[in-house]
Order: sequence, then C-alpha cells, then structure tokens
Amino acid sequence: MPVADFQTYCKLLDRAREGRFAYPAINVTSLTTANAVLKGLAENRSDGIIQVSTGGAAFASGSMVKDMALGAISLAEHVHRVAERYPIYVALHTDHCQADKLESFVLPLVAETEKRRAAGKPNLFSSHMFDGSALPLKDNLDISVKLLKQFQANDLILEIEAGVVGGEEDGIKAQASAKLYTTPEDTLEVARRLNAIPGGRYLLAATFGNVHGVYKPGALKLAPSILSDCQEAAVKEYGPEARFYLVFHGGSGSELSDIHEAIDYGVIKMNIDTDTQYAFTRAITHHMFRHYNEVLKVDGEVGSKKAYDPRGYLSEAEASMAERVKKATEDLRSAGKTMFGA
Ligand SMILES: [Zn+2]
Repeated sequence: MPVADFQTYCKLLDRAREGRFAYPAINVTSLTTANAVLKGLAENRSDGIIQVSTGGAAFASGSMVKDMALGAISLAEHVHRVAERYPIYVALHTDHCQADKLESFVLPLVAETEKRRAAGKPNLFSSHMFDGSALPLKDNLDISVKLLKQFQANDLILEIEAGVVGGEEDGIKAQASAKLYTTPEDTLEVARRLNAIPGGRYLLAATFGNVHGVYKPGALKLAPSILSDCQEAAVKEYGPEARFYLVFHGGSGSELSDIHEAIDYGVIKMNIDTDTQYAFTRAITHHMFRHYNEVLKVDGEVGSKKAYDPRGYLSEAEASMAERVKKATEDLRSAGKTMFGA
C-alpha cells in the first residue's frame, strides 16, 4: 500500500487505542533497514511506523554531504515507492528534533510537504516529533502550539515530549537530574494548550522511568501507572476526548508485562531502535566470523567474492532485523491487525 494518508493514519491510531495494541515505530538509516521493517511488518500482517532520527538522516545523505533534511527526504521517497508493493499500511515519522534543530530538520521537511501538497501530491512525512523536553514546559508548549497549528493545516500529526527519557540517543545524553517521570500536572497543561487547537492531532511521549538504549533486565524501574494517572487527570478535567495518544520511548529491553500495561493505559506507538540495531548487526557478525577466511584476503589468498559481496551479508541482516520487527508486532499485539484490505 502507499504510505498511509492522514485519514488512514488517524484511523490506525484510533483503532490501536480502542483495541489496546500499539504500532512499532522503527528507526531506519538506509534502504536496507527500511526494507527490513516493511518485510517484518508485511510478514506479520501488521501496520507500523518507519522513523528517521536527525543523526540517521544525516547518515543517509552520505558522510560528505551530512544534510539531515536531504537524507530524510531521500529515505522517505524510497519508502513511498516501495511501500506500494507491501500489503500493509506504513506511516513515515521523524524522531527527536530538539528546538535548535527545527530549522535544519523538521521545518524544511514540512516545507517540502507544503510544496508537494500545492502540486497535488501526497505528504512527504506523516508526522514529526518536536522534542522540547529540555526546555521549561511553557517554552516547550509555546513552540508545540505554533507547530501544531502549521501541522494541522497540512494534515500532519505532531509528537511532543513532556518529561525526559533518560539515557543517550544520537549522542545526546539526558541529564542525570532530568525529570524521568511525567506528572499529571504537566500533562494537564499539555491538554489545556494543545487541545485548544481545532483539528490538531498530536501524540504525547510521557515518561515513566524509561531510558534510551538497552539495559540488563531489572536495571530499570518502569512505572506505567504514571500513564494511567495522567490519563485520569486529563479525562477528569477535560472529558473523555482528552485521553492522550501515548508514545513509549526507550522501550528496548523492557519487560513484556510493563509494555502491556503501558498499552492498556493508551500507548499506541512504541519506538524501537536499539533492539533492531542489534538484530541487524548480529547477522553480519555471524557472517563475518563464519566466513573469516573468505571475507578477508588472508596469507596471500584472494578471499571469496561471494562472501564479501555486501548483498550477501546485508540480506542476512535484513532478514534478521525483519524477524525482530515481527517479534515487536507480537509484543505490541499489532500482528494480524493490518487495516489494509479491511
Ligand atoms: Zn526517543
């Protein structure tokens, strides 16, 4: 199917919240990793989200160019073309964009969508995240309000973050003192400011002890009940329509029971990067260790072209990452629930 349009994307999110499941949102940095996500989703008949980070997008544009907007456009165009061959819906999203990167990442991508819409073409991306979690909440929401108005006019969905996800992503480390737990007061303020924009659709990354990267089991204390507290506060103050569409960041290595509890409280998107990175690299490592004397020219030998042709080990990596995507659709209960053909 083509990349989900705005109406379809909204329906996907509504269905997930009603049906208590979530979509995997997988970070990609190349054609091969994007193809791996599509394969995994399609094989398990799940819709899903492909996302690109600032660093991943810069990487995709090439080490000499390092233009994150250009790299994101390039990856998105690839997905638009190939997604038509897969029997599922996929949405295209950009991950964490801090305030100082809006000018070089999200805003040029929104401008690209505006240009395409003016020419009668589909949006480039389906949604973008603005990460103002390092700012005071008021400043975070001032920028979010401005963005949501622009997004609403262009059928784009905004993702914001209140509270800080710990750990490190794209080389940006959260402060040890950062707020790892969102409070109901914070989310009430989010609802007050953002729900005032008619037709605006947004997702909220609330934090409940989650940390980017992967940790040994038991190292993290997740408190999904915080999400329930935030939902209850919003509904009490603003009515049932104020229930949030929540995003789970830093979910790699989480206990399945915590994931399911978070979904029960309204998580409809779970970001996955570290676990799929490992799955991709694991297959390449296996190939290199097994074919050591063929991928290298050892002791005056010439190696084996078949072993060092990148298509060989990258196909194995694609398959391995696709398997991890399939596991994600099972963990998040999105497997078998594609809206395509429904
Ligand atoms: Zn994140």
